[in-house]
Amino acid sequence: MTQNNELFNRNKPLIIAGPCSAESREQMFECAEALAKTGKVDAFRSGVWKPRTRPGQFEGLGETALQWLTEIKQQFNLPVITEIATPQHLEKCLKYGIDMLWIGARTSGNPFSINEIAEALRGVNIPVFVKNPPNPDLELWIGAIERIKNSGIRTIAAIHRGFYPYRTSIYRNIPQWEIAIELKIRYPDLPILCDPSHIAGDHSRIFDVAQYAFDIMMNGLMIEVHPNPEVAKTDALQQITPQRFNEIMNLLQVRNQTSNSTPSVLDQYRMQIDSIDYQLIELLGKRFEISYKIAEFKKQNRLAPFQINRWKQIIETRQRQAEAVGLNPDFILQLLQCIHKESISVQNRHMQNSTPQSEDPNKKK
Ligand code: PEP
Ligand code: MN
Repeated sequence: MTQNNELFNRNKPLIIAGPCSAESREQMFECAEALAKTGKVDAFRSGVWKPRTRPGQFEGLGETALQWLTEIKQQFNLPVITEIATPQHLEKCLKYGIDMLWIGARTSGNPFSINEIAEALRGVNIPVFVKNPPNPDLELWIGAIERIKNSGIRTIAAIHRGFYPYRTSIYRNIPQWEIAIELKIRYPDLPILCDPSHIAGDHSRIFDVAQYAFDIMMNGLMIEVHPNPEVAKTDALQQITPQRFNEIMNLLQVRNQTSNSTPSVLDQYRMQIDSIDYQLIELLGKRFEISYKIAEFKKQNRLAPFQINRWKQIIETRQRQAEAVGLNPDFILQLLQCIHKESISVQNRHMQNSTPQSEDPNKKK
């Protein structure tokens, strides 16, 4: 997937910012004016058709908002970008002179939708950004990019917006950076932007996620900015004010984007390991939270912390699973012994320190 990509041959990251949704003319112009003043934005974003999880929520203003984008483009000399999910959306965007398009996570996970959009894109010259699908399926993401590429679109970039959190996490969408890095390793010429807003899900974590993206040499950012985030009709928690956007852009350490400073393949593998270790530790944290609950249950029911049959069952199933993925079962045994030992001692400590409800001394008083 080689790129003929004027947007990204600039030795500096591409910055896209703007509200999650176009809500009103005032909101759009206030935001665009403030962002244009910072001089740090390459394109103004706004969703005009919003893919909502449940019906009955704000679904965007469609064509009315496309008209605002056209005016913003002219008034502030800012290229504008919006999300499309159907060939009809594409047709409307072309009618209003929208400069760039992105395909949202829910659409990029559906090959039928992507095929329809790709067919409609034939013969059109417009940059297209493809967000990762909600599930952590790199092949599906690559498939969507390939389908768009096969339609003849020359400027294509990926947007990493994190993956559906099947477990609780500090993130709204778990970054699983190793997947974005794998995409970079396989397609070194494909620019990848990071969307820290949808990864973080909370305005307070935007900076950290964006900095990490620059540390792993991502090629730009798409950030949600709203003049008044508390009253935003969509994604209120994660949107930041234009002022905060400006501060964050000043604080971010941008690595030199020239090719000779790109991380080596070894560095990229190490970054993947870092991301996986981070997730391993998060998962262990979750495992130990459950250990506490088990300790509480055993205490209430006067059960022993260590139960031999349960231990045998753990090692048997995990060793079989280890073998199935090509890991040495002895290594997994040692790892489990270590985890189990800690789990038992955590449970023992917990059972000694807490009092079962029936024996609560306060109750006897
Ligand atoms: C968005 O950018 O506002 C959006 C809907 O994103 P995603 O497709 O990543 O959920
Ligand atoms: Mn959003």
